[in-house]
Amino acid sequence: MTSLHQLAEDSRVIVRNGQAAVDPDGRCVVYRMRRSQRALDNPALETAIAAANMLEQPVVVFFGLLERHPTAKLRHYAFMLEGLAETEQVILGRKIGFMVRICSGANSDRQFARFCRELRPSLVICDEDPGRRDWKWKRETALYPAAPVWSVDADVIVPSRLLEKEQFGARTIRPRIRGRLPQFLKPVGNRPVRVPWKSERRSRSLPVAPELARRLDRSVGPATGFRAGTGAALTALRRFIRDHLPGYATNRSHPEIDATSQLSPYLHFGQIGPHSVALAIKDAVAPAGDRAAFLEELIVRRELAVNFVRYNGHFRSIASIEPWAQRTLEEHAHDKRLHLYVERQLANAETHDPLWNAAQRQMVTSGWMHGCLRMYWAKKILEWSSSADEAYDVCVRLNDRYELDGRDPNGYAGIAWAIGGKHDRVWGPERPIYGKIRYMSFASTSRKFNSRAYIEKWSG
Ligand SMILES: Cc1cc2nc3c(=O)[nH]c(=O)nc-3n(C[C@H](O)[C@H](O)[C@H](O)COP(=O)(O)OP(=O)(O)OC[C@H]3O[C@@H](n4cnc5c(N)ncnc54)[C@H](O)[C@@H]3O)c2cc1C
Repeated sequence: MTSLHQLAEDSRVIVRNGQAAVDPDGRCVVYRMRRSQRALDNPALETAIAAANMLEQPVVVFFGLLERHPTAKLRHYAFMLEGLAETEQVILGRKIGFMVRICSGANSDRQFARFCRELRPSLVICDEDPGRRDWKWKRETALYPAAPVWSVDADVIVPSRLLEKEQFGARTIRPRIRGRLPQFLKPVGNRPVRVPWKSERRSRSLPVAPELARRLDRSVGPATGFRAGTGAALTALRRFIRDHLPGYATNRSHPEIDATSQLSPYLHFGQIGPHSVALAIKDAVAPAGDRAAFLEELIVRRELAVNFVRYNGHFRSIASIEPWAQRTLEEHAHDKRLHLYVERQLANAETHDPLWNAAQRQMVTSGWMHGCLRMYWAKKILEWSSSADEAYDVCVRLNDRYELDGRDPNGYAGIAWAIGGKHDRVWGPERPIYGKIRYMSFASTSRKFNSRAYIEKWSG
């Protein structure tokens, strides 16, 4: 039988404070849910349950709902809250407590510390966030020193700390990940709790009070095309396996037929975990080449993005790119721009390029843009901005504002790839503005698929 000490040694677990022994007066195990917003197949929740079962204590989940977020809009909140309402029900059904507190950004850690003082946990489990720096963890854990705090890397298959440093590209990360899949690509499991949570204290039920709705940034309304939640994610996964996995390797390059999984919003909010998706694809009845192509995106590319955000402190800016890319963009900084657009024109899809405008409209209306067009979309912003620096910032702002899956490592890595050649190679011949960064033209991009059908579908 595993001991608490062995649990802490698991490679998914990072011990976040100096407290080694559980609080002897503790009464429960608290799981502070942030990114992995699901009740099932969640390694962080499972670690909390395993520890609580050893201690013969109940588990309580805490969710601090920020009343305002610098980049999240009504669109993101609506999706998150719909998903959380389902998560709450399943968690309560598993006899685990679930508490939501509305917090302001500045005081969320203090509110959590207050919550811990009320509940007195023996141990606190959090889920890992690659964008969260060590100093933030130190500041947070200093507020409740009585219990050990562990974070669990719940949203990647291979724990990201095993990769040790920033990886140069898919070529370098692929063998490191593949070599570890036999160890880590296994079902997470959903073990029963030994001690049910019993309390008169009702959790604050979701969807949360109208007072929150009034304070949100409503400038971007709910997305039209997606139902939220783990149930909807599993339905989307099953539908994808049935209808589009056979042929994925070819058809994923056809934005007019939507043949990809569209799981990215669910993965972003942790409503489904990568283990559930990868295992379902691995075992699906579909050609091996299609399954391999999908797993390359879901595991290698996605975990390369997580690695980028975790180990590159500049992931939100052009300072994150390689020296060769910095040099080539600087050499072409003063090249003549044939078209220049400000952010408002881009946001309103007011460019001369019908394909770009259609992609922008797809993102604004549906909350999701096809992957092939995301590349084109970002590269054209480089071409139409007065500097690469500005292009990078505009891409991050528009992507995070409109994409349901925005504010995600994949978005930062995708933008760094498109504008700054991150994880890519040097390209020739050298071109105006792009220099040695890979170039994409309207003519070559629109020839690769039925772009007319796509433009018609997303015309204004
Ligand atoms: C400029 C730019 C911006 C992007 N912004 C985001 C973003 O904000 N959020 C986001 O999740 N993805 C982003 N991507 C990556 C990718 O385009 C999307 O993850 C993918 O298109 C989502 O659609 P899907 O779920 O149908 O993908 P599928 O083709 O079905 O792939 C399955 C999963 O694999 C992962 N994946 C697929 N392609 C990539 C990739 N190139 N890099 C990393 N992971 C990948 C995603 O988690 C995806 O859900 C961006 C890419 C670029 C070039």
